[in-house]
Amino acid sequence: MNCPYCGAEMQEGFIQSKTQLAWQESEKLTYQAGDLFSGIGLSEVWKPLKGFITKGMICKACRKVIIDYK
Ligand SMILES: [Zn+2]
Repeated sequence: MNCPYCGAEMQEGFIQSKTQLAWQESEKLTYQAGDLFSGIGLSEVWKPLKGFITKGMICKACRKVIIDYK
């Protein structure tokens, strides 16, 4: 996949955290999946020993990351 910002080739990898990755309108602590929060969860289901993880494409030329969320 080519970067939609600069056109360089993007590299696939993983974005990982011990706690849920989330987009939120304001700065708040994020919680594990299943807890109530007003944001949008960005990472897949928790996996033992790996935490929360989702695939992401990175553009090292212009420092962008693109992910899909469910
Ligand atoms: Zn780029």
